[in-house]
Amino acid sequence: MNGMLTTGLLHWPLWSLVIVWLATLHVTVVAISLYLHRDQTHRAVTLHPLVRHFFRFWIWLTTATSTREWVAVHRRHHTQVDVPGDPHSPRVFGLKAVLFDGVNLYRQAASDPETLRTFGHGTPSDWVERVVYDGRGNLVGILLLMVLETVLFGPLGLTLWAFQMMGIPVLAAGIVNGLGHAMGYRNFDTPDVSRNILPWGVLCGGEELHNNHHAFPGSARFSQKRGEFDLGWMYLFILEHMGLARIERVSTQGPHANPGQTLVGHKVHLMSIYLREVMRPTWHMVRRSGFRPTRRDRHLFWLAPKLLDGSDSDRADLDHLLASEPVLRTVYEFRERLHRIWENGALAADRLEGLREWLNQARASGVHPLEFFSERLHLLIDNPALATESLLPTR
Ligand SMILES: [Zn+2]
Ligand SMILES: [Zn+2]
Repeated sequence: MNGMLTTGLLHWPLWSLVIVWLATLHVTVVAISLYLHRDQTHRAVTLHPLVRHFFRFWIWLTTATSTREWVAVHRRHHTQVDVPGDPHSPRVFGLKAVLFDGVNLYRQAASDPETLRTFGHGTPSDWVERVVYDGRGNLVGILLLMVLETVLFGPLGLTLWAFQMMGIPVLAAGIVNGLGHAMGYRNFDTPDVSRNILPWGVLCGGEELHNNHHAFPGSARFSQKRGEFDLGWMYLFILEHMGLARIERVSTQGPHANPGQTLVGHKVHLMSIYLREVMRPTWHMVRRSGFRPTRRDRHLFWLAPKLLDGSDSDRADLDHLLASEPVLRTVYEFRERLHRIWENGALAADRLEGLREWLNQARASGVHPLEFFSERLHLLIDNPALATESLLPTR
């Protein structure tokens, strides 16, 4: 029966290597999500120095990733989401490229000194970072791991190592960056094509709630609706109670919280409600009256208006669609104008003023869902307390 055991220092059954593989991969996923992403990139949480250092060490040992590079590439992704300049958008590069060649896209972005200079600030720069983790010793970690596992498990340890090396590119670079901008559902009308892949995720540590994250990048918690589970948040919750993490920000409750409370401050909530309660019913109303949209019509109608700017043919095709269906044009134009209210007025009072004007015109638009929406919203914003809601309240 010896053939069923590993041959290194440890004589473990073969199946235990699968457990080791999954467990180490999971720690890596959590390290990336909690340390690289929520702590270093977005400063949504401040991890205890001990926890930070454990994660730094672990990321070095299992992925040879530089904190500064990862943070810079990801911050750039947030500033140029799904438009040219985004380091890994399936909308820019095609889904196949991001799924199967995401690592190369990442490497390209990470080797751009301009990206590092502009977005890499605030990451560790102590001796161990300069010399080991992000210096000449960068690859020593994964080589050390290879040697260690070969000693412990014999030649099969090498296979285990190879699987570990494959895991992260697939999970992070491929699934979250690729599918997180291509497949799944949207809670929020963010100006990008980000999506929540699944409402629950053990595999990606909460990162698969990617549309929620783009709606509230500064929030330490990624889940927004009932039924959504963010594993990374569960760990943060535990760490906080152990005194090992300080939560800096969490977003307010999702779109199903009382909408009036968040309307004026939270553009993203309002836009999402607009999509659900005006755009969607109007779309179906027009379809019932005989309109037969193509797939492309549907795609363009729902795409965030900002993303149309890069392509003349997208804009032209959408204009063609809107010209043939005046009711769709009305709700679409009101959507764009609603977006613009937040661009013009930085002050809550300016936004409120703009919103009032918008509401008055929407109430006379002649499109039933839009009129109904504006009636209800009008009642809500007349409560002056709502106008002073801050953008992202600290807990
Ligand atoms: Zn993204
Ligand atoms: Zn992010």
